[in-house]
Amino acid sequence: MYTRLFGRLRGELVASAPHRMQGASTPNMGRLVMKFGGTSVADIERIRNVARHVKREVDAGHEVAVVASAMAGTTNRLVEWCREASVLHDAREYDTVVASGEQVTSGLLAIALQAEGINARSWQGWQLPISTSEAHASARILDINGTELVKRFKERSEVAVVAGFQGIHPATGRITTLGRGGSDTSAVAVAAAIRADRCDIYTDVDGVYTTDPRVVPRARRLDKIAFEEMLEMASLGAKVMQVRSIELAMVHQVRVFVRSSFDRPEDIDPHVSPPGTLICDESEIMEQQVVTGIAFSKDEAQISIRRVQDKPGVAASIFGPLAEANINVDMIVQNVSGDGVTTDLTFTVPAADYERAKGTVDRAKGRIGYERLDGATDVAKISVIGIGMRSHAGVAANAFRALAERGINIRAITTSEIKFSLLIDAAFTELAVRTLHSLYGLDK
Ligand code: ADP
Ligand code: ASP
Ligand code: MG
Repeated sequence: MYTRLFGRLRGELVASAPHRMQGASTPNMGRLVMKFGGTSVADIERIRNVARHVKREVDAGHEVAVVASAMAGTTNRLVEWCREASVLHDAREYDTVVASGEQVTSGLLAIALQAEGINARSWQGWQLPISTSEAHASARILDINGTELVKRFKERSEVAVVAGFQGIHPATGRITTLGRGGSDTSAVAVAAAIRADRCDIYTDVDGVYTTDPRVVPRARRLDKIAFEEMLEMASLGAKVMQVRSIELAMVHQVRVFVRSSFDRPEDIDPHVSPPGTLICDESEIMEQQVVTGIAFSKDEAQISIRRVQDKPGVAASIFGPLAEANINVDMIVQNVSGDGVTTDLTFTVPAADYERAKGTVDRAKGRIGYERLDGATDVAKISVIGIGMRSHAGVAANAFRALAERGINIRAITTSEIKFSLLIDAAFTELAVRTLHSLYGLDK
């Protein structure tokens, strides 16, 4: 029997919510997903450490499914090998190659668990199966069959070690992968499929911070963050969680707890809540700040079309071809024409699509009508996020002032209900993030 991720399961999960564990350290028996990222399984010593973390939860009486990433650096190396073999490689074969990192760690972790005296079995995406769409390299999970895992929890007290990042496209039988950082999504999807009480994400930081703690040492760990805010943080550059994993968590109401795998399992007191961040429903958060966090991304590129005809249909003639080419346009700024004849139009695209976007616009030049195309890849997008912005005016205005005082020029602005984003010169990224972090009272 398949547990449908986008259908029946949603109702079941919501219905089961009151039975879930209340806090991170609640000693009640429950069902857990524990996901370990690349640095957490970087070598055999770290894998042994992970096995002891898993043992700690098994000894506490929990049923556990583990989701493992590839060893840190492995996926990068596999991706590079594909590029070296051929720049224009077949995406199906790319997936065959890059999925292998998780095959290794899931097997090694099962071995390490067995060495700890724990009954454990590894599962590749095709074995469960984790069924996905056919979009190789960025596939979406459609179904996970969790039945066998649950049966084995009950009958054999067996820990499941699931290879993250990978699945199978059922019609073709080919291995697929979920896009970089996709093990987070595997973990949340497995949690939804087996109706886990919680999905614990073990990584190299002890939670979600107000901004990347590697860039801003004054960043503060958040006790809780709402799904919607985490979704914005992740999609605007905070790579601590893959975007898709938060979408799934939100739809299936899976509570996600981000914590560190670098604590020694032996030092953890099961009666004390461990440090970490709970990603949960907005309603669970009592004290809401106006600004929760700041995200940034240097993977942006700016394209400006100079002296473009200022007449109806021009925007369509530019953005139509870009959409057809599957290029995501993010920020758009158009000047009000001074002479009523021509104007300037600026927009951003992912840096990876920069050349393709310029080519696409260039080919449509005859239809659009413009003088010149300018572009820049040394730009960064800084985003300020907070549910509290819904009910507070003037939050962005303060940022404009603070950045102006630092001599930082803003090239483009976009706003939505719970966030605003500013495009600036990439050289000022760290300064801008630190300035806004202090401005909104986020420094620790
Ligand atoms: P894993 O390999 O465990 O999946 P990742 O490297 O994908 O780990 O994600 C963890 C990293 O995310 C951290 O080392 C940190 O530098 C980065 N990061 C970016 N933004 C944030 C944030 N707001 N809070 C915590 N970590 C963040
Ligand atoms: N190993 C994959 C990657 O590096 C998936 C993951 O770690 O989440 O992108
Ligand atoms: Mg990750």
